[in-house]
Amino acid sequence: MTDKNAELFERAQRVIPGGVNSPVRAFRAVGGTPRFISRAQGPYIFDAAGQRYIDYIGSWGPMILGHGHPAVLEAVQKAATEGFSFGAPTEREIELAEEIISLVPSIEQVRLVSSGTEAAMSAIRLARGATGRPMLIKFEGCYHGHADALLVKGGSGMATFGHPTSAGVPPEVVQHTLVLEYNNLEQLEEAFALHGDQLACVMLEPIAGNMNFVRAQVPFVRRLRELCTQHGALLAFDEVMTGFRVALGGAQSLYAQLIPGFAPDISVFGKVIGGGMPLAAFGASREVMSLLAPLGPVYQAGTLSGNPVATACGLATLREIRKPGFFDQLSATTASLVQGLDAAAQKAGVPMVFDHQGGMFGFFFASELPQHYNAVLATDKERFNRFFHAMLDRGVYLAPALYEAGFVSAAHTTDDIAATVSAAAEALALG
Ligand code: PMP
Repeated sequence: MTDKNAELFERAQRVIPGGVNSPVRAFRAVGGTPRFISRAQGPYIFDAAGQRYIDYIGSWGPMILGHGHPAVLEAVQKAATEGFSFGAPTEREIELAEEIISLVPSIEQVRLVSSGTEAAMSAIRLARGATGRPMLIKFEGCYHGHADALLVKGGSGMATFGHPTSAGVPPEVVQHTLVLEYNNLEQLEEAFALHGDQLACVMLEPIAGNMNFVRAQVPFVRRLRELCTQHGALLAFDEVMTGFRVALGGAQSLYAQLIPGFAPDISVFGKVIGGGMPLAAFGASREVMSLLAPLGPVYQAGTLSGNPVATACGLATLREIRKPGFFDQLSATTASLVQGLDAAAQKAGVPMVFDHQGGMFGFFFASELPQHYNAVLATDKERFNRFFHAMLDRGVYLAPALYEAGFVSAAHTTDDIAATVSAAAEALALG
């Protein structure tokens, strides 16, 4: 390939490890040349060679309104004019905190940070500080960013590269991290029976988007909530991906509809709350959050935390998605995409399964939906890779690894969905 993308990839690899600043962008799982994006508008991204793609990555989740939404653009431009960063508090941080809290009843206070990694890492520290206990549970295939203690069997990018746990993480650092199978009640009971009084926290991706799309089953979440309460461990929902994406109140609002009185103790957010700018947050009850510095003994800080341009972007985004009917419309668009793809797969006689919620979807080349990470690994990877490239060749940009979820935005039109479905029909017919 002699196009501009290949040229840029070669140049990038000289100065940036692997040519990318986040591993999955390198197309290592699917092979081929990563596309270097020069601009985006609405549901489309354009690469350096001028090729247009219908974008189902949306910056891995944040771009729920599509790219360049006028209200968001205006808010960001105005904020940038007023100043990039002050290192002092601003009214907009309060507004964003108020907005988040008003949409997520389980939290009374939030702290803003700059990435999901930071938010999850801080949530763990807070849980350990609150309980005075060292241990935490996470689940195989769930990714919570790349803080050392959470970087064990993290699915997603790590799965792509065949390293379940990163080098450079000493065993002592992860000795307090217990990794269990997702949706496995037996292992959960056993872990609490053995370590209940040492557990600070259980961290869960309620819909695991880092192994494509796997839901935590309702009985599993119900029992997890009971066990945490009984043993005095905090239940942390990592809603970096699902927050303000699968529903306005995040995945926790869906479980609260199915499990009376359900709420996590700590919530972690990112992606949509920044609208594409570096912004994330963690929140909990006032009692737990007041353990943070400067009020309490758990230290946590950030030079760019609550950045004025990022908060303007996030706030404008949240104000759009909370408008009446937004999620109904977004969910209907996602459902029509999934139904179209499903019909195309059936017509082509290709075993494929799908799931979706709000503006997030997943699909597997398998005959039933996987319930945990090993089942995800057993789906047809070669077929996925061929499908990915066939779609890319037809101007549809899916996540370049089967371990990743897909994202639909409010900017995707009926025509975009129809074009995607007809591209899929052609791609599936290729075998
Ligand atoms: N938690 C989840 C569920 C995520 O999906 C991600 C990123 N994909 C993170 C945490 C880490 O967020 P960031 O990449 O912003 O550090």
